[in-house]
Amino acid sequence: MAYMLDSFNFSGKKVLVREDLNVPLDQQTFQITDDTRIRAAIPTLKKIISSGGAAMVMSHFGRPKNGPEEKFSLKHIVSRFSELLGVPVQFASNCIGDEAREKAAALKPGEVLLLENTRFHRQEEKGEDNFAKLLAELGDVYVNDAFGTAHRSHASTAVIADYFLENNKLFGYCMEAEINNADRLLKNPQHPFTAILGGAKVDDKILLIESLFDLADNILVGGGMAYTFIKAQGGNIGNSICEEEKLDLALSLMQKAKQRGVNLLLPVDSIAADQMDANAKTANTDSNQIPDAWMALDIGARAIEQYRTVILQSKTILWNGPMGVFEMEKFQNGTRAIAQAVADATQQGAFSLVGGGDSVAAVNKFHLAKQVSFVSTGGGAMLRYIEGKELPGIKAILEKVEA
Ligand code: AMP
Repeated sequence: MAYMLDSFNFSGKKVLVREDLNVPLDQQTFQITDDTRIRAAIPTLKKIISSGGAAMVMSHFGRPKNGPEEKFSLKHIVSRFSELLGVPVQFASNCIGDEAREKAAALKPGEVLLLENTRFHRQEEKGEDNFAKLLAELGDVYVNDAFGTAHRSHASTAVIADYFLENNKLFGYCMEAEINNADRLLKNPQHPFTAILGGAKVDDKILLIESLFDLADNILVGGGMAYTFIKAQGGNIGNSICEEEKLDLALSLMQKAKQRGVNLLLPVDSIAADQMDANAKTANTDSNQIPDAWMALDIGARAIEQYRTVILQSKTILWNGPMGVFEMEKFQNGTRAIAQAVADATQQGAFSLVGGGDSVAAVNKFHLAKQVSFVSTGGGAMLRYIEGKELPGIKAILEKVEA
């Protein structure tokens, strides 16, 4: 088990903290348009500085390709970061080199230094040792709080941990919460366990579905991916989104579900539309009888009822991916109803975890984020974790290092 942030003595320590401060910016004004990720980093940093440590914060920011770029500079977040943290945040315009070294050395307990975007160095994503070592030399303790990048073996997320003894590296609060909640789902979950899977593509979810065969009693499929399954069974899906090359796979997944005693459900009916447009003509039809040239863009009324019943009987719920094109009002009903059902089941005592980009956007859109047990900000990292993969960012903290 890793050392815990709550019981760690930070007094007099220089603490290198890997956060995910990758917030969206307005590309004209460089103003932050959503500061959720900065807010999420605050508790860990407050804990460190209020117990006598000095924090040096590392993060990636956007996807710079060839070194520094104005629009990917973390300097744009300094003032908001200072405001939310309640202390002035200093800034080093390069995460390694003389300036970073000098500012880190001069940092006093209770102070915070933000280091420029780690991805301004190509060695970051390549996970190069030399670069990780230069970062590591800035601090005595390493805290990884960036779950969203834990599935990547980058210098600041994983390789750096090799330069810290096991009693000097630990998880931040965000990481702890993500791991604890995912483990609650994976290790001895209460049954019935229902997984709700949606979104555009089957391809992204194959490994997830297979690992869910070991865990779930019910798998409720919705969103664009459902129509590959429905076509594989001989249904007419019109112009609905379909991965032709995955038809056999879809059939074999359904067979496997049967063999494993998992109740894999497809939406019995759908909202079909003559085009993907706010003014489209729509009809509630059977999912296997979508009219030619029409496309299914949401689950239908009967599917909603059936899914809601299953969800309300569940004790553990995982939701990944919207049930339809929820960005458009006409096709958001299914996703909204499922979000509400997950919230209602949670109210009745179920444990619910919502993870993966668009389902998180959906619970936020419908103002239900506070009514589910846990909203994972991890995206890809959470999916990999549930698939049973070892995440380099987690492994690196837990691993012993030879002195
Ligand atoms: P993913 O990134 O795989 O979770 O997919 C999310 C996207 O799937 C969202 O942008 C939805 O609009 C889209 N989506 C959901 N249902 C459908 C559907 N029936 N047809 C086309 N796109 C869909």
